[in-house]
Amino acid sequence: MTNEVLMGHLSWTAYDRRVKEDNPAVLIPVGSLEQHGPHLPLSTDALIPAAISAEVARRTRSLVAPAIAYGYKSLPRSGGGQHFPGTTSLDGATLIAELEDIVREFARHGVRKLAFVVGHLENQYFVTEACDLALRALKGHGVHDMRIMQIEYWNFTSPEVAKQVWPGGFDSWALEHAGIMETSVMLHFHPELVDMTQVPEHPPARFATYEMWPYDTNRVPWSGIHNTAKGATAEKGRLFADEYIEKLSEAIVEEFGTPKC
Ligand code: ZN
Ligand code: MN
Repeated sequence: MTNEVLMGHLSWTAYDRRVKEDNPAVLIPVGSLEQHGPHLPLSTDALIPAAISAEVARRTRSLVAPAIAYGYKSLPRSGGGQHFPGTTSLDGATLIAELEDIVREFARHGVRKLAFVVGHLENQYFVTEACDLALRALKGHGVHDMRIMQIEYWNFTSPEVAKQVWPGGFDSWALEHAGIMETSVMLHFHPELVDMTQVPEHPPARFATYEMWPYDTNRVPWSGIHNTAKGATAEKGRLFADEYIEKLSEAIVEEFGTPKC
């Protein structure tokens, strides 16, 4: 039995054996290709859930499928908007269709425990819709026992960790885009991809409480980030990551049990 948790590194025969013998959960990170300020890479929203998922899979004897590299559009008040070079997004219907197809394929392999680990805020309701449509379609084909977990990993942040990391108080996850949490977690998992010399210095973004379409790009900070990432450290990243990995592992075992290996 191999300890490999990355599905994409397994042969089809090794994968097939794992699925048939162990009935593992399969974690699917759902990211985006989106600007994350001048200091973080475009794939941040895929890299973070992929790194967390790999650790969770090691603790829960699960598998991790390759991350969905593209996500739903970046919204001005949570991801800076669609006008940044590099931000490369899908229409909602495309993302839903892609995820539905993927659920159907895993069902065909015999997988019955799936977990979408969302890394991009704007993906949330499209993942929800894909789960609903996919389960409905599977029932029509006689598959009644597929279960899908949907996780927005940042929701596992405890008040205790938040207090340590944001001593001045936590604002909102939307304003945290490329902020302290994502920057710190990236410093923890992928320090070589972070350039702290490029962290912009400007006051937090101020947005209206409504949206106007088309939106005014002048109301979005030039840098693409909404709050400062000054003060992000690998140490804070480890605090976040340890908590996410532990709590997500607990949730996987709670919902799916631990497969025998
Ligand atoms: Zn992000
Ligand atoms: Mn994002």
